[in-house]
Amino acid sequence: MVRTKKQHNRISNRTYPSKLCKKEGCMMEFIPTDSRQVYCCSQHRIDSNNDKRKVIDKFESEFTKKAKKNRFVLIKISESDYYKKRGYVEKGLLVYEGYELPVYHSKELEHGTNREILVCYEYGLILIDASKEIYKIDIIEK
Ligand SMILES: [Zn+2]
Repeated sequence: MVRTKKQHNRISNRTYPSKLCKKEGCMMEFIPTDSRQVYCCSQHRIDSNNDKRKVIDKFESEFTKKAKKNRFVLIKISESDYYKKRGYVEKGLLVYEGYELPVYHSKELEHGTNREILVCYEYGLILIDASKEIYKIDIIEK
């Protein structure tokens, strides 16, 4: 009989070295029945996955909060006389108003110029002069 790699027994008598449960705060040492098992019991697996979900939810709600703040700043600046007169805004003013540059929904390229657009909701922030750190604000047409 030729053994192939795919062939394996579902129930094996193999014993694995004991491990410490990965759930935070659980100090239980257990003998896994499967090499992938990292929790001492199914409840701890469920608890840990719920905890991970909570961390992701928290991250997402914080991102949304910051993205909304960014949008608010872009509206405020783009509608100001200061911006309307000049057609651009300095990075310093954006940051001063509470804009967070690392927070955006996507990066796109402006047609023609290939300049990078940081998209935040319906607004796009385009770095028009890197040495002067000045940006223009555009409304993205979808
Ligand atoms: Zn445990």
